[in-house]
Amino acid sequence: MSVFVQEASMKTFEELESKVRSYSRSFPTVFEKSKGYKLWDVDGNEYIDFFAGAGTLNYGHNNDLMKKKLIEYIESDGITHSLDMGTIARKNFLETFNDVILKPRNLEYKVMFPGPTGTNTVESALKLARKVTGRDLVISFTNGFHGMTMGSLAVTGNASKRAGAGTPLTNAVAMPFDNYMDGIDSAAYIEKLLEDSSSGIDIPAAFIVETVQGEGGINAASFEWLRKIEAIAKRFDILLIIDDVQAGNGRTGTFFSFEKAGIDPDIVCLSKSIGGYGMPMAITLFKPEHDIWGAGEHNGTFRGNNMAFITATEAIKNFWANDEFEEEIQEKGEFISDKLADLIVKYPEIQGELRGRGMMKGIACGVDGVAEEVCKEAFKRGLIMETSGPSDEVAKLLPPLVISKDGLAKGIEIMDVSIQEVIRKRGLSA
Ligand SMILES: *Cc1c(COP(=O)(O)O)cnc(C)c1O
Repeated sequence: MSVFVQEASMKTFEELESKVRSYSRSFPTVFEKSKGYKLWDVDGNEYIDFFAGAGTLNYGHNNDLMKKKLIEYIESDGITHSLDMGTIARKNFLETFNDVILKPRNLEYKVMFPGPTGTNTVESALKLARKVTGRDLVISFTNGFHGMTMGSLAVTGNASKRAGAGTPLTNAVAMPFDNYMDGIDSAAYIEKLLEDSSSGIDIPAAFIVETVQGEGGINAASFEWLRKIEAIAKRFDILLIIDDVQAGNGRTGTFFSFEKAGIDPDIVCLSKSIGGYGMPMAITLFKPEHDIWGAGEHNGTFRGNNMAFITATEAIKNFWANDEFEEEIQEKGEFISDKLADLIVKYPEIQGELRGRGMMKGIACGVDGVAEEVCKEAFKRGLIMETSGPSDEVAKLLPPLVISKDGLAKGIEIMDVSIQEVIRKRGLSA
């Protein structure tokens, strides 16, 4: 398609779609096709994907095995919509998830289908924690991100997202995340507040925490800090909710992001890549003793996306039946760290700092606006990547986990050239 057609198509979004649109502004082109770690726009320009649908496409775009199963299912008139009635697709997903993911990790969780999105699983987790404990306060963490509906927004840090609520966001209080303040042990601070009956902080129903903050700056909590938060939760009978919507599904190197911390959360939220193929799906996992829901107490029309069950089951069977994929992610994660560390040394002008874990990494730039400009320049050169953090100060890498080393190296080369261009344009010096 010609440039003219492409420009005309972008006009459609400007004229007909609400101003609320976001990513079509960051990546102003019209995409047509995608495969693996690449996308192509209507002009045939190729893009390397370091964004992967914000962690929804961990297994890449249009994986052949999942596509085949999906087409077969549709062709056979398999059930598409069924509320939460029993279907073969639902049964196979539950059994596969239990056999391949939960059992080998010695995790005993009930599975709830809360609705198809990340914020749906978070809302259900908050509801359940309040119901189980009979308390209403939830402790969240600085720079946390949990979604856009009222309950999730109340535990989200970002001021402009919170302002969108248009009404007070209540029953939540934010405490400092790990390393929020240099040299201060925030876990000890939280424990002190909770043991002091005059601190003004009530004992909450739950802590809700991301092990690596996806939107809030790719801040990785140390395993030690996570263990301390878990110990505090146990001490005061507080439920520990891990929001693994972005960091889960292998992103940090293990299926669940908390596995290496050795913690045992009461509730786990999964979405984004759980459907495998980019299909809307979410699950909420919790300890069986917390399964006190009444039938239909948390209901919803789209709590059984059968097509997502088909691709999710295929993804789990293909990628998680043995340790190979985990090893691959860890190896690529180290490769990314090495390459980014090189860039940070090579370009002291941007005052870069390496952030993250596994294949959820980023460079936090000490100079205002640099990360955003690097992403813009990268897009012009065929690389899709986004920023993260309260001031968009982190250039964030979230490539599909299946990307080749060659693809990673090419993308990072584009970052290199883009950084050079930003330094040149801005006249930055070290
Ligand atoms: C994306 C995200 C959510 C919200 O998911 P939606 O599908 O956008 O509602 C919640 N928590 C975390 C950690 C996320 O990254």
